[in-house]
Amino acid sequence: MKQSVTRIVDFFKKHKYGKLTLALLLVGVIAAGALLSRSQPEPEPIPLSKVAAAIAAGEVVKIEDNPDTGSLTITYKDKSESTTRRDKTAPFLEQMKYLGVREAQMAQLEYELVENKAMSGDRIVNVVVSMAMIGLLVFAMIRMNGGALAGIRKKYTEGDVPSTTFKDVAGMDESREELVDIVTFLKNGDMYQRMGARMPRGVLLVGEPGTGKTLLAKAIAGEAGVPFFTTSGSEFVEVFVGVGASRVRSLFKKARSKAPCIVFIDEIDAAGRKRNGHGGGGEMEQDQTLNQLLVEMDGFAASDGVVVLGATNRMDVLDPALTRPGRFDRQVNVPRPDIKGRFAILEVHVKNRRLAPDVNLMDVARSTPGLVGADLANIVNEAAILAVRGGHDAITVQDFQEAVEKALTGGVQQKSRVMQEVERRTIAYHEAGHAVVMHATPHSDPVYKITIIPRGQMGGFTMSLPEQDSLLMSRNQILARITGLMGGRVAEELFCDDITSGAANDLKVATQLAEEMVMHLGMSDTGLRVFNKPEGYEAMVAPRTGQKTFEELDQAIRQILDECYAEAKRIVSEKREAMQRVTDCLLQQETLSREEFVALM
Ligand code: ADP
Ligand code: ZN
Repeated sequence: MKQSVTRIVDFFKKHKYGKLTLALLLVGVIAAGALLSRSQPEPEPIPLSKVAAAIAAGEVVKIEDNPDTGSLTITYKDKSESTTRRDKTAPFLEQMKYLGVREAQMAQLEYELVENKAMSGDRIVNVVVSMAMIGLLVFAMIRMNGGALAGIRKKYTEGDVPSTTFKDVAGMDESREELVDIVTFLKNGDMYQRMGARMPRGVLLVGEPGTGKTLLAKAIAGEAGVPFFTTSGSEFVEVFVGVGASRVRSLFKKARSKAPCIVFIDEIDAAGRKRNGHGGGGEMEQDQTLNQLLVEMDGFAASDGVVVLGATNRMDVLDPALTRPGRFDRQVNVPRPDIKGRFAILEVHVKNRRLAPDVNLMDVARSTPGLVGADLANIVNEAAILAVRGGHDAITVQDFQEAVEKALTGGVQQKSRVMQEVERRTIAYHEAGHAVVMHATPHSDPVYKITIIPRGQMGGFTMSLPEQDSLLMSRNQILARITGLMGGRVAEELFCDDITSGAANDLKVATQLAEEMVMHLGMSDTGLRVFNKPEGYEAMVAPRTGQKTFEELDQAIRQILDECYAEAKRIVSEKREAMQRVTDCLLQQETLSREEFVALM
């Protein structure tokens, strides 16, 4: 019941005029309820003096008097009834006397004092209905105001030490690695302090919804055994100015008193969106909230031991003030899991569930490309429900298949997360192209990792790492890098039906590198002169580059790009078989490590 109410309320919250509609609806329902309870047939009360007159005339046979409510029920000789009210502060008999009824007349009728009788059936229904409606109204108000009605709802989960640990977080070893030192810091803050080491105050967990950011934050607190405070950026953004800021203040006050601890702010982009200065109530509020957050973060000393973890899936909209050093100066990517990651996540979630012996979790992982941890947890749960419904004593392969299908075709949102097969193939060829070209180009950095798991706007990526850190880059190295960047587009041309926008970033970086070579590094035939982009005052007074010079530069840049492109094309056409092997393997396991890749070549 509570869930469905929540869902209904959520539904209204999501729509622009939802709150208004919901409020109107509630008022309507309550008004209708009130009318209904009114329309109950209740005889019109008669004046007390009429009662007295009737008694004096000997027409009354019985009176029921309820001294608690002051209501009287009068039964007449002709068996008709009427009700009235009397002054509760004085006894009924006395009142009658005042109204001229003699004692002898009173004695003739049956006078009965009634207890406050149990309420009649429909009365109870009435009361229950109105209480339910009041409850619903209050509940809805709390929901809509995000707990603004002070004290009625907890604003955030008070700092308990979570029982979640890294064991519960599967398949994101890299993200986890970057966070273990925070655990150490929280555990032995003194050690760090003695060494004068400063821990990051804020860490941003960047990843799409459901990738396990909250889970990871909780696990850090659980591992370190420190309290966990959580709130959400969207809760800060209130209609009432000042509420968000005061909430931040009280949150940090509590956290500081329980330090060392972790404060987790989900959806931090809601509070820390780039300010664009258009004013407006909501925005002012957001500014105040953001400022308060910054003040709090600047305010704590390293010894305070409060580590703030923020979660977002949109780095680009964050206010730069948030990412400045001393604030959220560390970022940890929480990517969508690859096939191995999905397998590991599934394993965590089936731990306490009975599986039929022929269930192969690897198959489930294989059939769910693009899905995240939350989806997988749902799939396992759904499969378990299906098993119960089907009367199986363990979750069967069919249960899993059905659950996966449901997840894939369920929400529109999830559907879009699952890449289409064609798109996956294109991305696989594209990345294979990068990798194969890099591998075959002598001065290129070695391929470190290839993946077709989408990350943000990127379909996939091929990562290369220099074998040694070097200060200088040689001409050949830069050319090799440009050639590698061309590999993606070239592969699309040679293996796919059409070329795609997937090469956009590659081409941008390649162009920048070529420009750099020609205009700043003296690495082309145009000579050694450096052409800076004029800025500020210079831009106004400096003569424009002459048309002829401009054409020369343009020509030189173009030549570099063309030559690198031709080289990439040569390599990809020559290594068709290797291309196919890498692509197939990518499609199958989504991520290739350096060793796996080299073995395929
Ligand atoms: P986010 O905060 O990134 O939106 P959550 O941490 O709320 O995602 O994840 C929701 C649920 O999905 C978790 O409670 C957990 O059950 C499941 N989940 C997500 N990622 C993982 C993971 N890596 N390992 C195990 N379970 C996961
Ligand atoms: Zn690319």
